[in-house]
Amino acid sequence: MRHIAIIGSGPAGYYAAEAAQKKFGDGIRVDIFDRLPVPFGLIRTGVAPDHQSIKGVSRRYEKTALSDNVRFVGNVTVGEDIAMDELRELYDAVILATGAPQDRELGIAGEDLANVFGSAAFVGWYNGHPQFAGLSPDLSGKTAVIVGMGNVALDVARMLSKKDREFDGSDIVDHALDALCESAIERIVLLGRRGPHQISMTPKELGEMGELAHAAPFVSPDDLPAVEEDALLDPGLRKSVALLRKFAALPDRARADKPITVEFAFFAQPTAFIGDARVEAVEIERTKLVDGRAVATGETQRLPADLVVSCIGYRTAPIPGVPFDESAGRFANDSGRILPGLYCVGWAMRGPSGTIGTNKPDGFAIIDKIAEDIETGTLGDDDKPGRAGFDAYAAENGLDVVTFKDWKKIEEAEEAAAREGSPREKFVDIEAMIRAVN
Ligand SMILES: Cc1cc2nc3c(=O)[nH]c(=O)nc-3n(C[C@H](O)[C@H](O)[C@H](O)COP(=O)(O)OP(=O)(O)OC[C@H]3O[C@@H](n4cnc5c(N)ncnc54)[C@H](O)[C@@H]3O)c2cc1C
Repeated sequence: MRHIAIIGSGPAGYYAAEAAQKKFGDGIRVDIFDRLPVPFGLIRTGVAPDHQSIKGVSRRYEKTALSDNVRFVGNVTVGEDIAMDELRELYDAVILATGAPQDRELGIAGEDLANVFGSAAFVGWYNGHPQFAGLSPDLSGKTAVIVGMGNVALDVARMLSKKDREFDGSDIVDHALDALCESAIERIVLLGRRGPHQISMTPKELGEMGELAHAAPFVSPDDLPAVEEDALLDPGLRKSVALLRKFAALPDRARADKPITVEFAFFAQPTAFIGDARVEAVEIERTKLVDGRAVATGETQRLPADLVVSCIGYRTAPIPGVPFDESAGRFANDSGRILPGLYCVGWAMRGPSGTIGTNKPDGFAIIDKIAEDIETGTLGDDDKPGRAGFDAYAAENGLDVVTFKDWKKIEEAEEAAAREGSPREKFVDIEAMIRAVN
């Protein structure tokens, strides 16, 4: 019998578990650890609350989660509740599927001013991540600036644009629903260092910006490249750029009856956030494209800003005892191999890119590598204690482990507490989750 510990119960973790089951059948026991008492990583705490069909992907992991040779070990933070070398003593292989939960910083002045947030924090706030539920962004000002031109920036812009019935059917948490419905924001500016051809926005998400009840998009026609150049783009990006062209052609009257405008500001990079204690403005430098790269022109302007959300990417959180690649912001690895018996997968392996589905081939590839390493003897004999060893450790150290059955109790309680039309009202603190189990 071989024992695998997977650290992180997001898509990468569950795909790796599914692959292990397929590869080794009954010859394997998999423990999936998570620091939260609830599974599924960013599917729960990242994917936008109004994208329920995407969140529904987690149902597909239940078959794996409920099988006898896979179990969920929630409410255990690896690196805090148990050290990495202790865990490696217990399991033949440890796979880090811890994602990239920390915001990348812009590294400019004023980033620590009040009401300047990274997207991990801001998205975590409206999605009820226990770490960020208490964020309390001040939405009483008129202008929000969002740094970034990817789908996360669009999610944040859309959430800031929606009101009341537009949240029907979503699982946005109560505290965020109240704050967003009362928000005074009427101008949302998305800043991109480069131009319309360099966005990382997919057509579905961009198209939604043209369908909002209270907000309309604005693109300056001057920022658009010659239309013939669109033919050189790959089909997905071409569709997105076509949407930007559609937004640029909107007549002023299309915006007249919408109280919120979402502006796409291209060739603009923030150089400082300005304010006394709270952010009041963003200093922006105009850029130009040189060989596909943004180059500063020295031309600056100040944009008033009452709220800033930076959506420029994420970093993996280091774990003591695991080699880390500081410049890439992820574990140092060779196609998922870190050290003998220690692996990584998903965002912890390759950084924050791709969709949920991108993590599936990762999960299968890492299990193939583990099979190879068993074959070559790199993982030693099959004499590790696995589950039994961890259970003894947990009992000795008083860990309050949450199982998948426990999670189903939490889920039931969340569903029972849902407001009308919503699938659930999430618990936003760990104590409340544990109380629901007991
Ligand atoms: C805001 C946002 C919106 C997104 N929207 C979409 C979308 O609409 N469609 C789409 O296809 N993709 C979307 N994605 C991308 C998708 O969420 C990722 O591809 C995917 O979640 C990455 O999976 P992962 O398993 O590597 O990491 P994660 O999903 O982040 O899972 C990591 C897990 O590890 C746990 N963990 C971390 N550290 C520890 C530790 N030390 N000990 C124990 N557990 C730990 C975390 O609690 C978490 O559960 C979105 C991403 C973001 C950020």
